[in-house]
Amino acid sequence: MHSWIKGGLGAAALTLLTLAGLGAALSAMDAPLPIPTDLPNPGAVLPVAHPPQGLGFSVLHTGESRGAPEALIVGGGSWWRYRRPVQVAVLVRHPRANFLFDAGLGRQVDQQFAANTFMDRQFFAYRHVRPAADQLAKANWGAERIRMIVPSHLHWDHASALPDFPDAQVWISPAERSHAEQGQAPAFLRSQFGGVRHWRTLSFSHGPYLGFERSQDVFGDGAVVLVPLAGHTAGQVGMFLTLSSGRRYFFTGDTTWTLEGLQKPADRSWALRQMVHVDHDVRLNQRAIVQVHQLMQRFPQLIVVPAHDERLLARLPHFPQFQE
Ligand SMILES: [Zn+2]
Repeated sequence: MHSWIKGGLGAAALTLLTLAGLGAALSAMDAPLPIPTDLPNPGAVLPVAHPPQGLGFSVLHTGESRGAPEALIVGGGSWWRYRRPVQVAVLVRHPRANFLFDAGLGRQVDQQFAANTFMDRQFFAYRHVRPAADQLAKANWGAERIRMIVPSHLHWDHASALPDFPDAQVWISPAERSHAEQGQAPAFLRSQFGGVRHWRTLSFSHGPYLGFERSQDVFGDGAVVLVPLAGHTAGQVGMFLTLSSGRRYFFTGDTTWTLEGLQKPADRSWALRQMVHVDHDVRLNQRAIVQVHQLMQRFPQLIVVPAHDERLLARLPHFPQFQE
C-alpha cells in the first residue's frame, strides 16, 4: 500500500474517531428527563366518548425537511440514523364539520419563506411540497369543505397553508395569537396568518381531561378534545381523537419532533438547542414531554403522534384513505 493512501486512511480513521468521540461527548449532555413528583394524575380510565359513525382522519403529507442525524433531532438518538421530519396536515372528517389539525406547507410557501435570512433558508430548507388544498382538490374536496383549521401552533411549518382556506375558521388560544403577532421570522411569518378573516378563540372551558387542567370538547361528543400544551410556543394545543373503532390518538404538535422523545422521555438534543432557539419556554415544554410520557405509560393503547415524526406518520392512512 502506498504511504499516501495509508496516510489518507489514517487521517480518515482519526477523523471518524474524533467525530465518534465528539458525538459521544455531545450525547452525554442528553440524559433522559427526570420525572417530577408533582405531575398531575391522569386518572385510571380513559374518559367516555361517543364518537359518531363516519368520524375518521387522514394524513396529508405536504412537504419534508432536509433532515439531520437523529441524535440532533432527539436527545439520546442515533448518530447513524438519518431523520427527515415531515410537514403534514391532519384532516378530521366529523359529521358536524371537516377540519384540519395543522395546515402544513401551503401554495404560497416559497413567497412566505423568502422573508427569511440566507442562513435560515438553509437551516429550515424544505422540499417535495404538496399543499393540502391541491391534494384535496384532486379528490373533489373544494377548500370550502374545510370549515375549521386548528393549528397546533402558528410556527411557519404549521400555518403556511392558512391562506389556502380563506373561509375557514381558525381556532387559536389568545396566548398563541399574541405570541405569533409579536413573533418574527424564521419561527413566525406574518404573511401566513396576517390575512386570517375568521379567528375563533379557544377558551378551554370544559374542565380537566387526562391530567390536563382544562380542555375543549369541540363537538360535545367527547370525540375531539383539545388541551393546552404550551411550552414549545406560548399557546400550543394538543388534540385527543377517539374513533368509533375504539382507537384513541393524541396529536402532540411540536412538544417533541419524534415519538422517541416522548418514549424516553427526552428533549431535542442539547447540541441542537445550543444552535437554534427552538422552544418558547424550555422548562414548560420539558414538563409537557414528561406529562405525555406518563400518559403513554398509563395508557399504552393511546397512539401518540408528534407533528413531524416521519416514521410514525408513514404508518398512518394518507389522503384519500381514512382511519375510522
Ligand atoms: Zn413544527
